[in-house]
Amino acid sequence: MSGEGENGTMSGPDGGYGEMVGGASIDLDALEQNFRHLKSLTNAKIAAIVKANGYGHGMAEVSRRLVEAGADYLGVAQLSEALSLRECEPDIPILTWLYAPGTDLTYAIRAKLDISIGAPWALDAVLEAARLLGQTARVHIEVDTGMSRGGFEPSRIAEAGAILARAEADGLVRVIGAWSHLARADEPDSSETGRQLAAYREALDVLEGTGVVPEIRHLANTAGLLWHPETHFDMVRPGVGLFGLSPNPNVETADELGLVPVMTLTSRIVATRKVPAGTGVSYGHTDITDRTTRLGTVPLGYADGIPRSASSLGPVTVVGIRTHVVGRVCMDQVVIELPDGVEVGDEVIFYGQGGASADEWADLAGTIGYEITTRLGRHVPRTYRGKVGH
Ligand SMILES: *Cc1c(COP(=O)(O)O)cnc(C)c1O
Repeated sequence: MSGEGENGTMSGPDGGYGEMVGGASIDLDALEQNFRHLKSLTNAKIAAIVKANGYGHGMAEVSRRLVEAGADYLGVAQLSEALSLRECEPDIPILTWLYAPGTDLTYAIRAKLDISIGAPWALDAVLEAARLLGQTARVHIEVDTGMSRGGFEPSRIAEAGAILARAEADGLVRVIGAWSHLARADEPDSSETGRQLAAYREALDVLEGTGVVPEIRHLANTAGLLWHPETHFDMVRPGVGLFGLSPNPNVETADELGLVPVMTLTSRIVATRKVPAGTGVSYGHTDITDRTTRLGTVPLGYADGIPRSASSLGPVTVVGIRTHVVGRVCMDQVVIELPDGVEVGDEVIFYGQGGASADEWADLAGTIGYEITTRLGRHVPRTYRGKVGH
């Protein structure tokens, strides 16, 4: 049910008192369809990236469905996310790549997580934990091929490889993967991806020279999967595409890519009014009506994840008709222009199936679709369609 027990509220019968007005419907069948579509574009294994609470969709629920659909791996950023994901998914390999010095990595090894190593201190920490535990750690070495964010600098790969080769011989680690991340794969014309690809291949050669031959080489995000087949190697790591969004709608929209929105965010009209021309609307009266206008009040605002930067613009759909936010987005509500015939209680689609896309909201709000779904408040109820047994 819709968030019952998750946000500490009590729901009455029929989603009565205590249930917030508005919520996200998550279509797990659409998720599986997107997964299958992306899978059809490659021969590589698929690591489904479900960080940030499954891009806002609910990590546990989307992971379950992706595993059932045949994902080979799951990936999350923080070790803390990976440990909670492991509670839900006992068997599938889970890749994690963010933790800090001082973290007790014995938990990660015990949980059979695939631990990324992207710095000398992380290499030391993993080896120490493996020694302490007397167990072999599953590791993936990360190379910085041009993102300047994580991973060993190429000049330090030989040194890391030598240490890993020794540790592998000692049974402390098994080097499962060698990976990197693309900075500009969503710009198909950029030469940067080719440059990163060359740096990646070179790092693989250096590793091989030290005796480290990873089974799984992985480099591509959704954009790499879609637009750079030469980056697929043994595994690809799509995130955003699984959720029906395009990595760059200016290149191809989700629709053009054959991807279906998974999240549909809706609420309902709780007040209507008809105002004359010259009426100021919402904080600051940034919009003043230029004619007699019907307005409706809808209880979702920036505290729920509706971007305030989409004030006066945000596209919403009521009874199948596209309209928009009028004036500023408030903390908990927005005012929209109402088409004729719309009444109090009618459903309003912010984005998703039957409405605008999260990518359209992003464009109008000056951000990217990723930020629209990941920013949806954790307190906003999610209901799942197409759910299968846990
Ligand atoms: C977020 C992320 C991905 C997925 O990126 P998308 O653009 O959502 O496909 C893959 N790999 C890493 C390391 C990431 O941080």
